[in-house]
Amino acid sequence: MTTAATLAKLGRRVLVLEQHVIPGGFTQTFKRPGHHWDVGVHIVGEMTERSFAGRLLADLTDGRLAWESVGPVYDEFNFPDGFTIQFPDSPEAFRETLIEFFPHQRQGIDEYLSLVRRASRASGQNFQMRALPRYLASGRRQRAADAAHPHVSATTQSVLESLVDDPQLRSVLAAQWGYYGVPPSRSSFAMHALMVRHFLHGAYYPVGSAASMAPALLQTVADASGWTAVRRTVERIDVKRRRVAGVTLDDGTTIESRQVFSAAGAIPTASMLGDDAPDAWSDAYREPGPAHLSLYLGFSGVDVASNGAKRYCQWYYESWDTETIGWDIAPDRELGSAPVLFCSFPSIKDPQHDPGPDQRHTGEAITFVPWEPFSAWKDSRWQRRGPEYDEFKARLTDALLGQYRDSYPGLAPHVQHAELSTPVSTHHFTYAPHGSIYGLSTEPERFGDDTLLPATSISGLYLSGADVSTPGIAGALMGGLVAAVAASPFAGGRYVRAVMAR
Ligand SMILES: Cc1cc2nc3c(=O)[nH]c(=O)nc-3n(C[C@H](O)[C@H](O)[C@H](O)COP(=O)(O)OP(=O)(O)OC[C@H]3O[C@@H](n4cnc5c(N)ncnc54)[C@H](O)[C@@H]3O)c2cc1C
Repeated sequence: MTTAATLAKLGRRVLVLEQHVIPGGFTQTFKRPGHHWDVGVHIVGEMTERSFAGRLLADLTDGRLAWESVGPVYDEFNFPDGFTIQFPDSPEAFRETLIEFFPHQRQGIDEYLSLVRRASRASGQNFQMRALPRYLASGRRQRAADAAHPHVSATTQSVLESLVDDPQLRSVLAAQWGYYGVPPSRSSFAMHALMVRHFLHGAYYPVGSAASMAPALLQTVADASGWTAVRRTVERIDVKRRRVAGVTLDDGTTIESRQVFSAAGAIPTASMLGDDAPDAWSDAYREPGPAHLSLYLGFSGVDVASNGAKRYCQWYYESWDTETIGWDIAPDRELGSAPVLFCSFPSIKDPQHDPGPDQRHTGEAITFVPWEPFSAWKDSRWQRRGPEYDEFKARLTDALLGQYRDSYPGLAPHVQHAELSTPVSTHHFTYAPHGSIYGLSTEPERFGDDTLLPATSISGLYLSGADVSTPGIAGALMGGLVAAVAASPFAGGRYVRAVMAR
């Protein structure tokens, strides 16, 4: 959507094809009587005019999208034995909080924060350079890649171990891995640093919920005489003599176009190309990141805010181990506890939410799981996956509700609706490979992959979205922008400079 809106801003007519019944990908929302939930937006950093991402989105939506701060705290981490730490919305307060909890680690904390600044700056510049065609970037792209390399190739764990002695502080600093989905021993430190920087000035929620995002962006496309067509599944990206020719839909319709931008993700794009996929892609490291379970809760008849619900996100770790990311589950085994539960309350973040006389509110609880226990049902029909799947889902729901009750004893009796999404639900609604929560895994190999550029080696074909940038709304926004700029470097460059100058 951000590629389409950027191209529209450059005067181009764009056709947006979406396989689902509503556009928006992970910004879509869904309703059940009396309640509605976001599926992939809890908090987003940088959504103010002081940051480029905030200014860009404001421009791409012509000011139609408003953001509300979630307050002076955006994340809270709960570890065993009552240890609770909150991450505040300024770099100074963040440093002070860390030093207050770990006074003996002052030097390590300062070195860590300084490295986060250097690594995020170098990695951000590297992403910008990757958008430019080689003939324009000349030596700059290589210099940016060289400057980012030490941060890209290091793991988060190796950096934390080199700077911080206290294992509990290491866990606290790594505890946000859920925002990019890969544990410290495997994630690229560049990814970690970009995420830390993303939230340094706090976090925001879209007014009117994530449902406001797609209409705000797609109106810009429509204003430039473009279209959005839903229930249009692209089956094949057509290529003739190493040049993109258009797409073929699953009903056999062919649409000719000299430029195609794929925001479906790098792995699905390779499938849509089939034998036409560049040879280099098959050697590249392209693993889907982890999958997740999301428990959607509807409350009624309770003042949620007085019973533990917060506008900030709350994470509950079962132990100090931030390395065990996935809940080890199988349909035929006893379920233990999910190692971490991420909880959020969309309705109290949204100033437009009207709880009505029944005090209707919503909550979400998320944990990470592997794809394999669900893969057997990948080709089954939504809502008709059979009794074994239903039973597995019911057991998972009960287990998660049990954990939820421990954290929110005052809310649990007021759960009026509980509904679980699994990795096969995620796959069904977004076509995410292996139901992956964030697309490609964020390991060092991904960020050093020179085949993962917005301009592909097939002329006229561009990769867009989070996979050519980083996971998250801001990552997808930047991935969308770099794809449009890669296709129109001069006009795109002028547009970027104009937004920066605001
Ligand atoms: C549970 C969860 C929580 C999250 N929380 C946050 C958060 O709090 N903050 C944050 O910043 N980010 C969050 N994210 C991540 C963020 O939502 C995503 O990284 C981002 O939306 C990805 O955008 P995208 O455009 O790259 O991909 P997508 O949103 O996946 O869009 C791809 C689109 O392509 C469509 N498509 C795929 N294949 C085809 C085809 N063959 N034909 C036609 N259409 C096709 C899909 O249906 C989809 O609409 C969360 C994600 C999840 C799942």
